[in-house]
Amino acid sequence: MLKPMKWSIKIGTISGIEIKAHWTFLILLGWVFFSHFNMGHALEEGLLGVVFILALFACVLLHELGHALTGKRYSITTQNIVLLPIGGVANMEKMPEKPIQELWVALAGPAVNLGISIVLFFILKQTNGIPNMLDMNSHMSSSNFLFNLLIVNVLLAGFNLIPAFPMDGGRVLRAILAMKLDRTKATEIAALTGQFLAIGFVFLGIFSNVWLVFIGLFVFLGAGAESNYESTRSVLSKYSVGNILMKNYTILPSNEPIERAVEQLLNGQEKAFLISENDHIVGFITKDEIIKGLSELGKLAPLRNITQRNYPELTPQTKLDIARELMDKAGASFSPVFEEGKLVGVLDLENIAEVILVYKAGMESNINF
Ligand SMILES: [Zn+2]
Repeated sequence: MLKPMKWSIKIGTISGIEIKAHWTFLILLGWVFFSHFNMGHALEEGLLGVVFILALFACVLLHELGHALTGKRYSITTQNIVLLPIGGVANMEKMPEKPIQELWVALAGPAVNLGISIVLFFILKQTNGIPNMLDMNSHMSSSNFLFNLLIVNVLLAGFNLIPAFPMDGGRVLRAILAMKLDRTKATEIAALTGQFLAIGFVFLGIFSNVWLVFIGLFVFLGAGAESNYESTRSVLSKYSVGNILMKNYTILPSNEPIERAVEQLLNGQEKAFLISENDHIVGFITKDEIIKGLSELGKLAPLRNITQRNYPELTPQTKLDIARELMDKAGASFSPVFEEGKLVGVLDLENIAEVILVYKAGMESNINF
């Protein structure tokens, strides 16, 4: 899961999705311009190079929009699309779980690039703009601009369809496997296939092109991360908040001083407390807030000044994978849990982490025996 990107410049909104460019993207543009300049090319060529990069990233943006808008059809929202020098990232809240839906969402990106290639091909064919020989090293000029754009779109589609995570092709493979197998098994097989391919790339790259080595390493790490993420998610989806709810909790009124919380912290087992105002839970404080508040505000400051008021809406029925996502989003490591408006317990991220540890320990002992 990618954290929201800092240092991004908003460049617009399309269909409710924020479009941003990371500041390093500007460096890429500058670098392209100056490298033409450095090679002694004409000013026009440098500018054309920059325009080409902009056109290329417009294609990358359309690719990401392909994913995002297809996701939208399955009511999956995309917060934003960030353009980075290495490509684009669509921050979708999740991937659809129905294999056929994941398949369409994953295919939509590369399909956009193929579509662009086909359109460019017909334009070039009409205007006799297709060169006789493939010469990628020739100078950028307005005569080969569209042809280069066509080639790059074919490469984008091809690269993204490599059947390995984190590429779209990895998701396509998983979705196809998940039609027959359960999702965790499908992820494992897709990830292994990807890692196998990655090792192939590295070897091939050592004897030919160093870029293949980089792509191989990138794919290898991506595949591992995805299968890890997916196996954890599938473990958590088997349990609900109700299974690990803590029923021992302390509520402190928000007008009490911080020293009351310090007392509670030292005398008991709890590391976080609920905070109330007029008999309503308004938030919580953890050990971190107490210690920080103590050093910055002193022991007599009221608890309301250090209360974390952002917490997710959890019920005992919330599945743990969803609960973890909601807590992440709210930036809360602790949360009250309500059932029909009534407080029934508390949950913290440590409980969730323990579920994963216990489950994995159990799995390993199964394999050993
Ligand atoms: Zn994609």
